[in-house]
Amino acid sequence: MSDASSFRDLGSFLDARLLRAVADLGFATPTPVQRETIAHSLGGEGRDVLARARTGSGKTLAYALPAVQKILLAKGHTSKSSEDYAGTRALILVPTRELSEQATRQFLDILTYCRDEVQIANVARGISDAVQKLVLSEKPDVVIATPSRALACLQSGDLALDKLETLVLDEADLILSYGHADALRSILSGGFLPRVHQTLLMSATLSDDVAAIEGMALRNPAVLRLENDMSLAGELSQFFVYTSEEDKFLLTYVILKLRLIRGKCLIFVNDIDRCYRVKLFLEQFGLRTCVLNEELPVNSRFHIVQEFNKGRYDYIIATDGDADGEYGVARGVDFVNVACVINFDLPTSVRAYTHRIGRTARAGNTGTALSYVVPKEEFGRKKVLSCPTCRNDEDVWGKIVVDQQRTGAVGAQGATPWRYDTAQVDAFRYRMEDALRAVTRAAIKEARIQEIKTEILNSKALKAHFEENPRDLEYLRHDKVMHPTRIQQHMRHVPNYLRPRIAGIADASAPSVGYVGKRRTLRGSHRGGKATRGGKAARGNAKRKPKKKDPLRTFT
Ligand code: AMP
Repeated sequence: MSDASSFRDLGSFLDARLLRAVADLGFATPTPVQRETIAHSLGGEGRDVLARARTGSGKTLAYALPAVQKILLAKGHTSKSSEDYAGTRALILVPTRELSEQATRQFLDILTYCRDEVQIANVARGISDAVQKLVLSEKPDVVIATPSRALACLQSGDLALDKLETLVLDEADLILSYGHADALRSILSGGFLPRVHQTLLMSATLSDDVAAIEGMALRNPAVLRLENDMSLAGELSQFFVYTSEEDKFLLTYVILKLRLIRGKCLIFVNDIDRCYRVKLFLEQFGLRTCVLNEELPVNSRFHIVQEFNKGRYDYIIATDGDADGEYGVARGVDFVNVACVINFDLPTSVRAYTHRIGRTARAGNTGTALSYVVPKEEFGRKKVLSCPTCRNDEDVWGKIVVDQQRTGAVGAQGATPWRYDTAQVDAFRYRMEDALRAVTRAAIKEARIQEIKTEILNSKALKAHFEENPRDLEYLRHDKVMHPTRIQQHMRHVPNYLRPRIAGIADASAPSVGYVGKRRTLRGSHRGGKATRGGKAARGNAKRKPKKKDPLRTFT
């Protein structure tokens, strides 16, 4: 094991320009996967690396730094006039376009002081064949692509890998589950790669499929078992609430309008129409949201995430998409500073739940996940509000709980019920019902079409300007109000008589803190013992300054 405790300690491996760029990013200490990957790949033997590392572990820099370091070394030893100077020395294979943008950004970050020497091309991005040909004819040092794109470029002869030194398989498990398995196999065994090169394989899970690829791609790898590396993960509090399908809307409205969640929030729903249903519902209360789903052009998707990360938007309503080879919001995408993930519709698998809640509590920040679970007897009561997948919520939730008990991998404890005072929430019911009535199927259809039209236009502008003029794009907004005639001024404001007294902050380690008086989950009452516990804790904390760390607050 390497014992580097700061990036400076990796000075024997890394060029001063790279160290400076990393320092500019504000990273003083390498994460375990960075420390180990850099030491193994750049150390004496230059070994292949198999790292079981999830998004948020710092894995992108873990492979980007050695890849660029080797390029700087090779080019430093070669005359600029030599034929050997230019050539693709690193190929980064990623599962989705979103991840290709993210990886590209991280490369650009560390290239601040050597942009002239190291060229990078992202060919996963939706560029035309002609532009792609042109870009690749420059022999960029680093090529980032999905395996399917990379294979097409190799077969057309646009991409040559005779100088390849580093091959990276990023999120290898997702590469396989996103339908790139055959392309990946063809790249590995199609005679495109030079005999000697180094491979770095990063994967959140080591499934049998990944093991099969491992055998093809890696030679005597250093195996880094860092799966429980939570060094960049913060404390995650998980809550759930049994709720009717209608009350999901009510709770979300109350939580957002009363700012029971402070900070940015990702709201997951299970189909595209529901994105718009929730958006159109919330906008009547003056709550502006962005929608993110697989139907939107990739440039818009990336721009939305970028702007959300910059703090321009507070709320994104997202689907996590299917394994369609292009889109995966919940997986891998680096959302920054997400205070809370709301599973408005519960995901349909344990794996999807893990990926979704992994979007919060990152980079040392605390985070909250709140899941709505529809009891079987509540399902389908109001057809228009119903989401077909929620028929199985109880079964899925049971599996999630069992999995959490089994692995203990997510957070210090499992999910706890979110308790609220129904009487308080009920005070908002008539407003909710009024707003929901306005969200008709026709309004959703119209909003969806309008959004695509707008985003196609946005996307064209984005495509043309992405690299050159990122600042020009700031005028583009993705959270425009879609149904302005329906915004009712009286709904935007919560009158004082409705405004509940806000108590303390719910806390993962002491979930009852701040709860006073009667409250219940939709499933059964939580009065009595628990209320007393909450009451005591609340009284005990009455004078303490409220902790800032957990954004999901409760009220009495
Ligand atoms: P990744 O696992 O590559 O998706 O990285 C997750 C996030 O951690 C990214 O936003 C990085 O900018 C950030 N990050 C990467 N390395 C470090 C580090 N050494 N210290 C703090 N944050 C980091």
